Amino acid sequence: MNAIRLPSVDRLLRSAAIEPLQQRYGREAIVKTLRDLLDELRGPAQLGSLTTIELSEAVIAGRAGERLAQAHSSKVRRVFNLTGTVLHTNLGRALLPEEAIEAITQAARYPLNLEFDLATGKRGDRDDLIAGLIRELTGAEAVTVVNNNAAAVLLALNSLGARKEGVISRGELIEIGGAFRIPDIMARAGVKLVEVGTTNRTHARDYEAVINPRTGLLMRVHTSNYSVQGFTASVPTAELAKIAHANNVPLLEDLGSGTLVDLTRWGLPKEPTVQEALADGADIVTFSGDKLLGGPQAGIILGSRELIGKIKKNPLKRALRVDKLTLAALEAVLGLYRDPDRLAERLTSLRLLSRAQADIHQQAERIAPLLRAQLNEHWQLSVESLLGMIGSGAQPVARLASAGLCVRPLQSKRLRGRALRGLEECLRTLPIPVLGRIDDDALWLDLRQLDDEPAFIAQLPVLGDYLTQSL
Ligand SMILES: *Cc1c(COP(=O)(O)O)cnc(C)c1O
Repeated sequence: MNAIRLPSVDRLLRSAAIEPLQQRYGREAIVKTLRDLLDELRGPAQLGSLTTIELSEAVIAGRAGERLAQAHSSKVRRVFNLTGTVLHTNLGRALLPEEAIEAITQAARYPLNLEFDLATGKRGDRDDLIAGLIRELTGAEAVTVVNNNAAAVLLALNSLGARKEGVISRGELIEIGGAFRIPDIMARAGVKLVEVGTTNRTHARDYEAVINPRTGLLMRVHTSNYSVQGFTASVPTAELAKIAHANNVPLLEDLGSGTLVDLTRWGLPKEPTVQEALADGADIVTFSGDKLLGGPQAGIILGSRELIGKIKKNPLKRALRVDKLTLAALEAVLGLYRDPDRLAERLTSLRLLSRAQADIHQQAERIAPLLRAQLNEHWQLSVESLLGMIGSGAQPVARLASAGLCVRPLQSKRLRGRALRGLEECLRTLPIPVLGRIDDDALWLDLRQLDDEPAFIAQLPVLGDYLTQSL
């Protein structure tokens, strides 16, 4: 006779073993979990056992507890980004400085003057909270802020070019991650795309040849995630602006990453600045808040007062606007730019981007023996110089001299791939998942972004346990 003897849901609910779960997850969740568990235990999958099994209340409580903990665990998880890509779009891009985190906390906890003018007591405009600061930093006449740069481009195109033609070089018809393609965005914005030039070469005369009374704008897009090299030509912003203005149409420049400071000051590759684009004559400039700027996800649109006025009147602006937490964080981040001398200490993303290779090397030397202690004789660990990336479409070909750990399996060639995937999975399933990169038959951990060294070290023994179980 096969049988499983099970307590009833009612009896379980009265048991001391279930009580703490009820406290933690509530009666409704525990009743549902217990019913599901008991149903499964009675189900056909459990038949076939030859003995009578008596499951105690404690055993069932244990299983229910595991199941509830799993179901209620947060899906938004902190990770260690050791991929070598600093502004990693899939890992949340820029890390915010403490000033911004504090501002977000305040804005979340208390009411605030989001759309209320404290000077007049009248209704205010949320853009005004940061417009003054952005104008001060960039020299722009006017500013508006939306949800991200994709929204900024869509809104600017729709506001200035709907039912008209938008002229752009074939060399700038970019696709960035997440199905954002300039031709599609133009179409959705109601702008008729007019391509000029070729993939590698576009000249001033190419633009001039297509401009006609239906032309609504000229557009320039920073080719942020690829680079065309060799026999190339493009029209500089200043020259393009002259052509636009001679024909009474605006020039819209999408900088993508955009930065407010000259990054070469910190040994980083040159990236066009917002100020340069404005000085060169772009009428509207758009860029991201969470790329090189180092702030929250946002799209910043700035430029001429008249055109920003048009953009702000577009009903789409309401659909794309930013929330109070973003504005609070953005104001705090922008505030740091008032003191460029201390920017690299205070702005987290810039501090990480400009970290010296020697410093990262030292950290790798510190951690190497601790990680080695968790690996058996099938693995070789070394400290290596590495080349990282800025990420998020800033300087796609530039590399950041970095350092880190290389873990190489020593098994026969046949087993290596599986061993590496196993190690990668172990790291990914740690309490704080560690994300590295597999390349050249080894796993690489770039330590440029390893700020919280104690938390990383603390979970190394867990890695050791995983590895002995799984390999
Ligand atoms: C990243 C990028 C965008 C989109 O910006 P998001 O802030 O990710 O929406 C648009 N254009 C260019 C050139 C970019 O690099």
